[in-house]
Amino acid sequence: MAETESRPTNFIRQIIDTDLRNGLHTVIQTRFPPEPNGYLHIGHAKSICLNFGIAQDYAGYCNLRFDDTNPEKEDIDYVNSIQQDVSWLGFQWHDKIRYSSDYFEQLYGYAVELIEKGLAYVDFSTPDEVRRMRGSLKAPGENSPYRDTPIADNLAFFAQMRAGKFAEGTCLLRAKIDMASPFMCMRDPALYRVKFAHHHQTGDKWCIYPMYDFTHCISDAIEGITHSLCTLEFQDNRRLYDWVIDNISIQTQPRQYEFSRLNLEYTVLSKRKLIQLVSEHHVSGWDDPRMPTIAGFRRRGFTPSSIREFCKRIGVTKMDNLVEMSMLDACIREELNESAPRAMAVLVPVKLVIENFPATQVEVLHAQNHPNDESMGTREVPFTREIFIEAEDFKEEANKKFKRLVLGKEVRLRNAYVIKAERVEKDAQGNVTTIYASYDPQTLGKDPADGRKVKGVIHWVSASHGVRATVNLYDRLFKVPNPAGEEDFLSTLNPESLVVKQAVVEPSLQHALQGVGIQFERMGYFCVDSASKPEHLVFNRTVGLRDSWAKADQD
Ligand code: ATP
Ligand code: MG
Repeated sequence: MAETESRPTNFIRQIIDTDLRNGLHTVIQTRFPPEPNGYLHIGHAKSICLNFGIAQDYAGYCNLRFDDTNPEKEDIDYVNSIQQDVSWLGFQWHDKIRYSSDYFEQLYGYAVELIEKGLAYVDFSTPDEVRRMRGSLKAPGENSPYRDTPIADNLAFFAQMRAGKFAEGTCLLRAKIDMASPFMCMRDPALYRVKFAHHHQTGDKWCIYPMYDFTHCISDAIEGITHSLCTLEFQDNRRLYDWVIDNISIQTQPRQYEFSRLNLEYTVLSKRKLIQLVSEHHVSGWDDPRMPTIAGFRRRGFTPSSIREFCKRIGVTKMDNLVEMSMLDACIREELNESAPRAMAVLVPVKLVIENFPATQVEVLHAQNHPNDESMGTREVPFTREIFIEAEDFKEEANKKFKRLVLGKEVRLRNAYVIKAERVEKDAQGNVTTIYASYDPQTLGKDPADGRKVKGVIHWVSASHGVRATVNLYDRLFKVPNPAGEEDFLSTLNPESLVVKQAVVEPSLQHALQGVGIQFERMGYFCVDSASKPEHLVFNRTVGLRDSWAKADQD
């Protein structure tokens, strides 16, 4: 990772500074604990940058731990994609990959310890009874009739649960805390349930699985995590986190701190909704460039550094907010403006014939790859009698504001000559099919000698040397800033979130590399799609040249 990325500060880092100053810790240890039940999204990137960033800056460690206690919803494909995405973002986890399931045997032992201390019991109430006895935010709960089962019986029942003697849904191991607690999570929460499910790591070894709240804190303690960072919805659960750690014989005392989730405009970040978009084919897959997943952003042409920069700019607080998509766009746009080589591509081509240019001649012009960075060199651009220009760059008549090509007027072809539109040919519907023009051979890289003023510049591609390419233009996936707030979020999908163009691109783009952003002059920043092939080029628009949501005059 670049040394130049400056160090952010936030309330969590201030807590760490204090802990270090007071000698509470000498080495800082964090973890990123995804559940492998979906692909990582930009919200996870916030958590990744926070956890791995702290480990980096404090010379500590950050573990990657799969929080895998829900085998039915999890999949090895997700495990693999998550590792790939964390690495791609530029972070390296400490030592080996961890799984909560690595600790199943230890977790079982701690559950037995709680039972032995009279702090846990096996409850045979039906799920409905358990729900009813929980009470509500307004009313206290009620003690289960199984709450005072003798310890020896509970130990035997729990062993039978593990041995597969009880059917799913017939019993739970519950902590014995306080059914009148104002915090629902403290009303004798479930610690284990029966589930005859195959697990991607432990196979068929277990038919009981520990609950998140029991697993997470103990996994943190086993790994020696000093600061366990999670999102605000776990604020109440911190009480349970501490209760478990305080009541088992484990030495380390991790502390949980909560920060606000990232919410991003015009998209959804709930895994359940993202899964729905994929499974119902509203998008082409988890890596569809319109998806807010890391894989989607990668395919869209975002770089790891632009996502890290975004996470730095949004910061870490306890305030709930909805971040503007334009903030993310700005991060990649600013980076690509510096780094992306320029090229010419015509997205909606119309043919232009330069009648005073010889039919068989190919003039090799040289174009600078970057206007502000000579070190990026030049490339060859063939100039021929027949070229394509952008259909919207030509008008038969226009006022002075239109600084492109107008019949009878002049315009400069980018990296080439000044041309003048002489006449047009149209189809039966009156659409211009061919523009006939003349060029001024004295104007390569200089203004016309007689002081004629030519203000407009348009891009072009040689008709004979240009290469056909499919270009995907992406827009917001949803029409409203907060689709998750709608009753039916799918009803707000933007039908124009993908517009496909059959373009013609300059020949140098035949060899464009995957993962390298390119500016198509005047059209935006693009990248080679992962499905692009030499015989069928596909480009994705990463972002426009300007913030199109503050729509500026394109001329
Ligand atoms: P779900 O949408 O199913 O609730 P989750 O957010 O709980 O998913 P996890 O895989 O458990 O997903 O998340 C791993 C870590 O990433 C957790 O520490 C979680 O707090 C954090 N995280 C998830 N979403 C966001 C978000 N939008 N902003 C910041 N951190 C997030
Ligand atoms: Mg979760």
